[in-house]
Amino acid sequence: MNPMPALLIVHYGEIALKGHNRKWFEVQLAMHLASALGGQAAGPALRYRGRLGVPLVEEFDPEKIYDAMSRVFGVTYYAIGRRCERNIDVLKSRIVEDLRARSAPPRSFAVVTRRSDKMFPMNSEAISREVGAAVHDTLGIAVDLDEPDLTIWISVTESDLLYSLGRIRGPGGLPANSAGRVLSLFSGGIDSPVSSFLLARRGAQVDLLHVHTYRTNAELVEDDQGKKILDLKSALDRHLVGSRLFLAPAYPFSIKAALSLGEKIEMILFRRFLLLLAQAFASRIRAEALVTGDNLGQVASQTLSNLAAVDFDLSLPVLRPLIAMDKVDIVALAKKISTYDISIRPYKDCCSLMSRHPRTRVPVELVKKIEADIGMPAMVEEALSLVESVPCQSARKS
Ligand code: ATP
Ligand code: MG
Repeated sequence: MNPMPALLIVHYGEIALKGHNRKWFEVQLAMHLASALGGQAAGPALRYRGRLGVPLVEEFDPEKIYDAMSRVFGVTYYAIGRRCERNIDVLKSRIVEDLRARSAPPRSFAVVTRRSDKMFPMNSEAISREVGAAVHDTLGIAVDLDEPDLTIWISVTESDLLYSLGRIRGPGGLPANSAGRVLSLFSGGIDSPVSSFLLARRGAQVDLLHVHTYRTNAELVEDDQGKKILDLKSALDRHLVGSRLFLAPAYPFSIKAALSLGEKIEMILFRRFLLLLAQAFASRIRAEALVTGDNLGQVASQTLSNLAAVDFDLSLPVLRPLIAMDKVDIVALAKKISTYDISIRPYKDCCSLMSRHPRTRVPVELVKKIEADIGMPAMVEEALSLVESVPCQSARKS
């Protein structure tokens, strides 16, 4: 039996580049790791250069760990490994022992060593070579440096040697809620859950604003189709930490505007209404940017000139993480984060009330003129007074 308890070795890539803020990022990551791992962790994370090590309980459940780790932003790679004293002979025998304990031995293997402590008497290459020879000689497994069935990862740190048999790619990005708050325009389609996810993965704290066709927010919550929005939020809550969902009815815009707008421009004015409402609400919740699921050329409202026509005078940046992605890649990501099946459920969204074929070039001057004619600020003001938050459904709140 290997005397050392299992250690979850977590590589955090980009945080290592953060200079003076590195420690703060590491603390954030360690906090989210602890909360995602729950009872699987046996103690606080150990800090090594470029990685964290979380001691695991004796009876840990690998499936629970894989599930948790697939959702902790900031993790580039992770592995369930062990630490051992800084002695190459002990390291060799531990690795051989762990390989022997495997039910199916690998067909071939390679060893990769990283040495963050350059004072260690052997260099990375020599360590890899010695460990490789020990594994090959005692277990008869073939070395294959190009396409190994298993890679043995070794890190030389100032206090320990760390090793793992294989490693797994994490979700990447930066630790949750380390990059400020954004307000995401959340439509119930395929795109906006993905854009919200992408911003959260870059460390933004993402709140969601959905504008709907019901008379009241309570009606949406109680309606079968409306439940789609809540289900999407619950699906996102597997990834987002402490995100809030806000609802507002669209009627302050649609009723009045329908009287005076031509069909072909109504959609652009509605997009404008959404952004102005979101901007006003963002300042209430101290969000520093807006996020949309816009995708260049996907529909007529998302041409370059129509994008310019809707955010020409906004004081907050509008982040559009999907702008350059292909739809197949957006769909693949939506499936991966489990929002796709919910997104394709039927729902009467605001756009279903408008022409699907707006003009592809609506001049800013025209937008300004119509806004003045229809009294846009008063519409936004009214909608703003109707914004309400939905009680958070997540079990994983910050
Ligand atoms: P999605 O983009 O989510 O798949 P969609 O493609 O039907 O839905 P569009 O009409 O293309 O949405 O709108 C583009 C973006 O505008 C959305 O991604 C979303 O960010 C925002 N948006 C659209 N409708 C709403 C709404 N009712 N409430 C909040 N935001 C909205
Ligand atoms: Mg879209």
